[in-house]
Amino acid sequence: MRYISTRGAAPELGFEDAMLAGLARDGGLYVPASWPRFSEAEIAALAGLPYEEVAFRVMWPFVGEAFSEAEFRDIIARAYAGFDHVARCPLSQIGPNDWLLELFHGPTLAFKDVAMQLIGQLFEASLKRSGKRITIVGATSGDTGSAAIEAFRGREGVDVFILFPDGRVSEVQRRQMTTPGDANVHALAIAGDFDDAQARVKDMFNDHAFRDAVGLAGVNSINWARVLAQAVYYFTAAVALGAPHRKVSFTVPTGNFGDVFAGYVAKRMGLPIDRLVIATNQNDILHRTLESGAYVKGRVEPSISPSMDIQVSSNFERLLFDLYDREGPAVTELMGELGTLGQFALSQGAVDRLRAEFDSARVSEEETRAAIRETLAGTGKVICPHTAVAVHAAKARRGDPAVPMVVLATAHAAKFPDAVEEACGVRPALPPFMADLLDRPERVTPVPNDLAAIEAIVAREKVA
Ligand SMILES: *Cc1c(COP(=O)(O)O)cnc(C)c1O
Repeated sequence: MRYISTRGAAPELGFEDAMLAGLARDGGLYVPASWPRFSEAEIAALAGLPYEEVAFRVMWPFVGEAFSEAEFRDIIARAYAGFDHVARCPLSQIGPNDWLLELFHGPTLAFKDVAMQLIGQLFEASLKRSGKRITIVGATSGDTGSAAIEAFRGREGVDVFILFPDGRVSEVQRRQMTTPGDANVHALAIAGDFDDAQARVKDMFNDHAFRDAVGLAGVNSINWARVLAQAVYYFTAAVALGAPHRKVSFTVPTGNFGDVFAGYVAKRMGLPIDRLVIATNQNDILHRTLESGAYVKGRVEPSISPSMDIQVSSNFERLLFDLYDREGPAVTELMGELGTLGQFALSQGAVDRLRAEFDSARVSEEETRAAIRETLAGTGKVICPHTAVAVHAAKARRGDPAVPMVVLATAHAAKFPDAVEEACGVRPALPPFMADLLDRPERVTPVPNDLAAIEAIVAREKVA
């Protein structure tokens, strides 16, 4: 498989280079040159297989010549060995035909582990082969950072720098980033919000001299390999609920549009997805875009679902590329307007396509708390605020009751104990393996919202 940039002006790459590059050199994102399509029989054959085997079959057409079949199977096996559930991403039932897809069984208790653990193994295999050294720089709204640190801590030839918005992540999220003692782990608290952190990371990638000098590599949700890894659980869930013989709907708590875009990828590959619902909190740029046809950047309003406190959803560019018939110049123009004016308007054709593929709902803080309470009362399950946003949205946008509705449960409630306790009176406990998290010493470098200052710190602190 070859990869092309959404802006049409960067060199085509293979899977391995696209994965290591993160952002394309023309500022765009890499996407596969075409969408592979599974037949109904191929999808039906996934029923009952272990997660790892489904992962292999779904991802293999995208990986192709980068790894041998045996190497790739081995990478997948190592990636998911540390998950604490044998099904890796199990389903649980919360209503007559309503399900949670539990994506929090990895080492940092959020769905980011599903992709990041795979990326850690993929990068290691690739760097071993080339002997290269790299510097991973990422921005996080809370969960990506710890997942990246957990995937790369102590690995040879790799430094990990994570920028998180100072004071805007939960204490558990912060401590997961600041307590690992490995010399190659660097937590940077930026004076700004997530969009600032993400913008500075993008700036670093666009500073080609710096990029080459430190061997910059990206693992943010713009990394294609992450999106791909997330497409897998749409298949395992849908097939367990009767696909391809019946349709299945999904509701996805959305921030950077990575997870829900993975659902779109699964659909392009032939998975019969009925509704794909984008659930947003009060930071609702995507919901407003579906309603109005204009993508208008707002101000980030901190919420109790902080991993979704985002007003520029990076992966949306990948969808735009398809909405505009894969024409790089059209995407370049829109993203240019976003940069200068903070907004752009979609063409009528693009809006129609967007609405044909996705549904959306915006969920208030009070509705989120109510969803936590009602889920506890109805099922005995304590859910995290992000999951609760999606539970509410799924109810609001429920279509045909005969079609199973799967809500992506993106984090363990114990990552957000204050918000959950306030909503339902129950304080969720951390699992035993991280019970002492609040006692471990922290190590963090405060940084200003300034590119030159951040680059200087990266150059100075890296050890690889
Ligand atoms: C990252 C994250 C999200 C949003 O996912 P995107 O891929 O950025 O849309 C939702 N919930 C949790 C818990 C997260 O960590």
